[in-house]
Amino acid sequence: MSKLTFPRMGESWRTFKMLLEDLGNEVVVPPRPSKRTLDLGVRYSPEFACFPLKILMGTYLETVEKGADTIVTSGGMGPCRAGEYAMLHQKILKDLGHDMKMVVFEHPRRQPLNFIRNVWILNKDRHSIKVVIALIKKAWRKLQALDNAEKLSHIVRPREIARGTTSKVYRKALEWIDQANTTDQIIEAETAALEALHVVPQDSDRDVLKVGIVGEIYVLLEPASNLEMEETLGYLGVEVERSMFLTGWTRDNTWTETTEGMTVKDAASPYLPELVGGHGRDSIGNTILCAKRGFDGMIQIAPFTCIPEIVARTILPRVSRDYDIPVLTFFLDEQTGKAGMSTRLEAFTDLMRRKKRFKHELGSLTG
Ligand code: SF4
Repeated sequence: MSKLTFPRMGESWRTFKMLLEDLGNEVVVPPRPSKRTLDLGVRYSPEFACFPLKILMGTYLETVEKGADTIVTSGGMGPCRAGEYAMLHQKILKDLGHDMKMVVFEHPRRQPLNFIRNVWILNKDRHSIKVVIALIKKAWRKLQALDNAEKLSHIVRPREIARGTTSKVYRKALEWIDQANTTDQIIEAETAALEALHVVPQDSDRDVLKVGIVGEIYVLLEPASNLEMEETLGYLGVEVERSMFLTGWTRDNTWTETTEGMTVKDAASPYLPELVGGHGRDSIGNTILCAKRGFDGMIQIAPFTCIPEIVARTILPRVSRDYDIPVLTFFLDEQTGKAGMSTRLEAFTDLMRRKKRFKHELGSLTG
């Protein structure tokens, strides 16, 4: 039987593993990206390839060592390189002597037949359509549970009394959700996870800053690629709201575009009316929407050489001025170190705190 693997993006692997196994496949879980993953990826990818392509290259090579022979991944469209990833990965792997099969999911709204054909390929147990739909729904519910637990951890961490408690509880919660195999069990595990996070001892008087995180999807969703930036910010007393979770992205990119997605586009349009590929336009739109909601600052994270985010980066200073919101950008690559990033985050947090205090004092003088 062929052994399947797929790109690792945060905790979503728990859902994909369950779904692929439910369909009758043997799965090789992609390992969490490590220094070795990156070294392998960098060694075998073109130097100027996008950072996510390199990490995924390393990941695939690690899964090949564990016997994977088929990669399930997504395609891409629009003016950026994401659409070429699958083909390039396959070619590099072939040159290295690994003849991998690729199952590439394109945009289902534009290519519904591709979606149906791929589901059929993956449906090894030949379940009926009704059963396949039920299995997809169950997987969707698990993805929601994982996202909900992560969102709550972002709220609790900056308020926790003992540093590290939230991360410890969150990791436990992930295991509960992971072990749930029916929809009822998933709902039960999600409830237990959210309750456990809620009861983490917190300091409700702490002055917590609120920061939005925007940028390219892979570095947003995979903490190993952004050096656990959200956790670092939490320890600095910052509540983060990430612009993208896999559930939200999937909703916007499958059957219909949600009103949320359209609101982001509308917000960005005075600054960037065109599609520039990737999530460049979303980075602008989400920055404006967060500024309107009174956030203390924004952070843009992007792979080095990511064209859509470079375009957004050139526009963000104007948005920052117009909406009076500080914006910090990180371009990430294999050279980026955690210590340097933490120093910049600390400085940014100090700046936001001073700005907030100043606004508050000004308000009490004039009010
Ligand atoms: S969005 Fe950026 S990082 Fe992703 S494929 Fe496009 S250019 Fe590369």
